[in-house]
Amino acid sequence: MLVVMKSQATPEQIQAVCDHIELLGFRAHPLPGAQRTAIGITGNKGEVDRGNLESLPGVFEVIRVSKAYKLASRDVKEEDTVIRFAGTDATIGGPDLAVVAGPCSIESREQAFAIAGQVAAAGAQFFRGGAYKPRTSPYAFQGLGLDALKIMAEIRDRFGLRIITEALDSETLELVAEWADVIQIGARNMQNFSLLKKAGRLRKPVLVKRGLSATLEEFLMAAEYVMSEGNYEVILCERGVRTFADHARNTLDLSIVPALKKVSHLPLLIDPSHGTGRRDSVLPMARAAIAAGADGIMVEVHNHPETALSDGPQSIYPDQFAVMMNEIEQIAPIVQRRLIRGVRIAAATA
Ligand code: PEP
Ligand code: MN
Repeated sequence: MLVVMKSQATPEQIQAVCDHIELLGFRAHPLPGAQRTAIGITGNKGEVDRGNLESLPGVFEVIRVSKAYKLASRDVKEEDTVIRFAGTDATIGGPDLAVVAGPCSIESREQAFAIAGQVAAAGAQFFRGGAYKPRTSPYAFQGLGLDALKIMAEIRDRFGLRIITEALDSETLELVAEWADVIQIGARNMQNFSLLKKAGRLRKPVLVKRGLSATLEEFLMAAEYVMSEGNYEVILCERGVRTFADHARNTLDLSIVPALKKVSHLPLLIDPSHGTGRRDSVLPMARAAIAAGADGIMVEVHNHPETALSDGPQSIYPDQFAVMMNEIEQIAPIVQRRLIRGVRIAAATA
C-alpha cells in the first residue's frame, strides 16, 4: 500500500501518518518526491484498512501497489533516484552519467595507484577494486582484504575518486561499510537475503549486481530487500547472465535497460566487462549501454592485464578507457545525458 500525501502536506502531517502506520504494526517508508511525499507501507500480509489512513490530515489518497517490488517501483516514487556523495558533486542516477572504473582486484598499492591515477585523469568519478573476491576456485587469489580497503581509502584522499568495493559476507560487510563509499553485493550474492537485509540496515549506498540467472523481478526483489530495511540508496548493475551463447563469458542483457527504467526509479549501471568477458567487446557494449539509457558504466581497467591476478582478459587498458570516455561523452547528449569528468570536492568549512 502507498499513502500519497497532498503536495502542501506539512512535515508534521507526514510524521503523523508514519506514526499511525507504525502503530498498526507495519513499517512506514516516507519517500519525498519533487511534487509530494509518498509513504510506502510494508510488513502487511494483506490489505491495510485504508479508511482510517485516508481521513488523516494531509493525505491525498491511499493506493494499492500490485507489483511484488514496492519501494523499488515507480508506482511508489515516480522520479529517478539520484544518489549523492557528501562534500562532492559526484552522483549516481539522474542526468549525469556515472563512470566506475578500476581493476577487478586490488593487487598492490603500486598497481592500484597507477590505475587510479589513469582513470582519474580520464575523468572517472568512482574507483572500483575488489578487496574480497568471490572466486570459483578456492585456490585462486582471494583479495588483499583490509589492506586493499586501506589502499582504496588513500586513493580517495589522493584523487577524489569515490570508492566501490564488494562485501562477501556479514563480516566483510562491516569493514567495507567502514572504508568504502558504496557497498557492492556481487552477482553470486544477489539472493543472499540475510546479507541484503544487513546492508539495508546500513546508511551507505548499496550496488546490487544482477544474479547469473535472475529475472527482472528477482533482481528488483533483491533491491527491495535492502530498501525494506530503510536503506533507499540502491544502485542496480547489469553484468550479464548465463545463456547458451559461448562467444562471450556472459550475455550482457541490454534489453533489461528500458524494461527496468520503466518500472523502477533506481539508478542502473552496466558492467560490460563481466557482461562479455572480452576486452574487444567492452567498448562497443559500453557505447550501446549509454545509448540504451543506462545511468552509467562500471568497467574493469588494468595497466598490465596480461599479468592481472583476476579478470585480465576482460580488463581494458587505461588508454582504451580514455577512448571510452570520449565516446560516451559524445553519445550522452543524444540521450539527454551529460558526462561530467572528475570529482569536485567542496572546500571544508571551518
Ligand atoms: C566484480 O565486480 O569484480 C565481480 C566479481 O562481479 P560479479 O559479482 O558481477 O561477478
Ligand atoms: Mn572481476
